[in-house]
Amino acid sequence: MTETLTIALSKGRIFKETVPLLAAAGIEPLDDPEKSRKLILDTNREDVKLVIIRASDVPTYVQYGAADIGVAGKDVLMEHGGAGIYEPLDLKIAQCRLMVAGRPDARPRGGRLRIATKFVDSTRRYYAARGKQVEIIKLYGSMELAPIVGLADYIVDLVDTGNTLKANGLEPLEHIAHISSRLIVNKAAMKMKHARVKALIEQLKSAVEK
Ligand code: AMP
Repeated sequence: MTETLTIALSKGRIFKETVPLLAAAGIEPLDDPEKSRKLILDTNREDVKLVIIRASDVPTYVQYGAADIGVAGKDVLMEHGGAGIYEPLDLKIAQCRLMVAGRPDARPRGGRLRIATKFVDSTRRYYAARGKQVEIIKLYGSMELAPIVGLADYIVDLVDTGNTLKANGLEPLEHIAHISSRLIVNKAAMKMKHARVKALIEQLKSAVEK
């Protein structure tokens, strides 16, 4: 019997945009994670399963081999650091920008800038590369509130249309990185399941380039 190939995905935008790519590679989930509470989804291929987990957990599952393959945003991969995983393909889905944003009338207090974000490592690296020491305040969501209530001078967050910033009286100020979702592969699986993983990468690559 062929060993199972496990693919880790998060619900929402990444799942929706990955499904057509997987379909082009002949893999179709038998359940919709938006409708089902199942965390492990069977596919039309007996040897391929999907696990549905939080976006920020995808690199961890793949790093430890609990999933052979995953789809994760570059923002999440930049925070994870990439230990134990290869990143062989840019799937060019779920695209957005990681940006510094703030109030148009921001008058930073003297001393260190305070930045609220959930992207702590990426933010630290960005300012360190510019020779700036900043105080980073870790938040888990609704970052836009922080500059409004005086918790931070600026935020670092993902921006797509810019509507969320605008609705909260903030504007994008500095572009840190272009973000898209990447295919990631466990390093051991790349060796042990090489033929199947390689074939899947090639099929996804041609689906992305179409
Ligand atoms: P927008 O209002 O279109 O600029 O979208 C910004 C909001 O959507 C922010 O709260 C982001 O965290 C989230 N967002 C936008 N693009 C992405 C993405 N590719 N992946 C995850 N979250 C995103």
